[in-house]
Amino acid sequence: MAVDSVLSSPLGPPACEKDAKALRFIEEMTRNADVIQEKVLAEILTRNGQTEYLQRFKLGGFTDRLTFKSEIPVITYDDLQPEIQRIANGDRSHILSALPISEFLTSSGTSAGERKLMPTIKEELDRRQLLYSLLMPVMNLYVPGLDKGKGLYFLFVKSETKTPGGLLARPVLTSYYKSNHFKTRPYDPYNVYTSPNEAILCPDSFQSMYAQMLCGLYEREQVLRVGAVFASGLLRAIRFLNLNWKQLTHDIRTGSLNPRVTDPLVRECVARILRPDPELADFVANECAKESWERIITRIWPNTKYLDVIVTGAMAQYIPTLDYYSGGLPKACTMYASSECYFGLNLNPMSKPSEVSYTIMPNMAYFEFLPHDPNSPGFTRDSPPKLVDLADVEIGKEYELVITTYAGLYRYRVGDILRVTGFHNSAPQFRFVRRKNVLLSIDADKTDEAELQKAVENASQLLREYNTSVVEYTSFADAKTIPGHYVIYWELMVKDAAHSPSDEVLNRCCLAMEESLNSVYRQGRVADNSIGPLEIRVVKSGTFEELMDYAISRGASINQYKVPRCVSFTPIVELLDSRVVSVHFSPSLPRWTPERRR
Ligand code: AMP
Repeated sequence: MAVDSVLSSPLGPPACEKDAKALRFIEEMTRNADVIQEKVLAEILTRNGQTEYLQRFKLGGFTDRLTFKSEIPVITYDDLQPEIQRIANGDRSHILSALPISEFLTSSGTSAGERKLMPTIKEELDRRQLLYSLLMPVMNLYVPGLDKGKGLYFLFVKSETKTPGGLLARPVLTSYYKSNHFKTRPYDPYNVYTSPNEAILCPDSFQSMYAQMLCGLYEREQVLRVGAVFASGLLRAIRFLNLNWKQLTHDIRTGSLNPRVTDPLVRECVARILRPDPELADFVANECAKESWERIITRIWPNTKYLDVIVTGAMAQYIPTLDYYSGGLPKACTMYASSECYFGLNLNPMSKPSEVSYTIMPNMAYFEFLPHDPNSPGFTRDSPPKLVDLADVEIGKEYELVITTYAGLYRYRVGDILRVTGFHNSAPQFRFVRRKNVLLSIDADKTDEAELQKAVENASQLLREYNTSVVEYTSFADAKTIPGHYVIYWELMVKDAAHSPSDEVLNRCCLAMEESLNSVYRQGRVADNSIGPLEIRVVKSGTFEELMDYAISRGASINQYKVPRCVSFTPIVELLDSRVVSVHFSPSLPRWTPERRR
């Protein structure tokens, strides 16, 4: 219930004193966005002014924006690769940051086929925690009573490795779940999960998911929200239930735990809630055995008020499937974050996915915005870009996000394109438009055009002995299967029809493409089971010409026409599908190990 007006905030009456404090903090930060940004930059430059990286430029001890912008170059990950490699190899000198690099966060963005390594420092955990602490106070403004039940969240840790110099390299969420910030978080009635920490922290994804699902089923009446980080993760959980409900209901019926769950800590924590409950088992089995799984989420967890999953950006493709399984429950996209830095939160989390805007919190880092004009030729050393400050962006314009962080990234291009939709006080709000250069994405994987091209080239080597070549190709992220998978349309030129490639050869081409794709893709296939086998659909010869005719009929210029390397527009996908002559799938998993190839 809302507390008295003394606590009230411009965002709405807070649910409790703790929330009031968080909302006041948001107000303070967003009212003074520009001043805070100036302070953040000065703090970063004062602290890190003596680092090797900043010493290369002529800051002369100045920490103001003007000097910073005139002296420090705007860079990408590849520009920083030599410094990152030295840190990874064990150089502990102050290369990027005056504070020790505590670990590397492995981004789902890749460079040369491997995850990018983002250096971080211990105190960044506090900054991330601070952003997390603002999410429920905002949510409580829109959804009352969340302290009366629990959240069923499917959360996972992933494998971690060590760099040659001994630093841990792991995804940012794995780092967070394994931290004391998460493990020993104080009890908060508004943020109680059905998943025990031990289940979340279990490195085996089957055992972890099994235990989290079982606990979620036992507490089905208490569950008020169901979530995962990304939409793809929640769909994977539903698929898991689909595949495993018989065993799960057997466990519930008998009060015994599936022997495939062997992790002693997981067994112990599940034992605390396990009890024979034939009535619950019958109920779940009955729902799961029905042919239609429409509204399965609300049938099994009837008190669910919303889904907590990111459905913006590449995840928008899963909205129809989530709506099917949840009967159109609201989908809350609460935050916008990355391995480099956590950026901000959605102050109106119950808004429709197409209207979601994120407010960047000015205390997280120093933010700049590179005006994004898809038609401009880009910039060179002689014509450096004019970057705009957080408080100065203009409504309706698109920008690429550039960050300067406490951990030692300076004017670093994140690669996300954002559109300004409005302001909360003096802090702008952004719609996530897209990530640059991403052609295909199913889960965390991001495949660009060059990677796809290379994969097609490598796979088509297998066709050589059949005197066959790939004359044209395009791709499609098929989000209708669970997990989703890549579909590659191939138009082939078969010179000797009597000796054309067999089904088995084309299956091997699928695998060869997967072998060529980056490590995040292969991890999704092998370890996370979040991406299904790659599919090649061979289309009739002449199909790509028809595709061009179609584009031209819709106004494309014949001189400038280029085959799109990825399609999503339904009529085009339908046209391609209507010309398919054979379908092939990857027959096995590509190679993947947690170790980096370089
Ligand atoms: P990673 O570096 O693997 O943590 O991925 C971070 C990237 O995920 C961001 O730079 C965005 O491209 C994407 N991302 C994160 N949060 C969101 C969001 N709320 N909506 C859309 N895309 C997001």
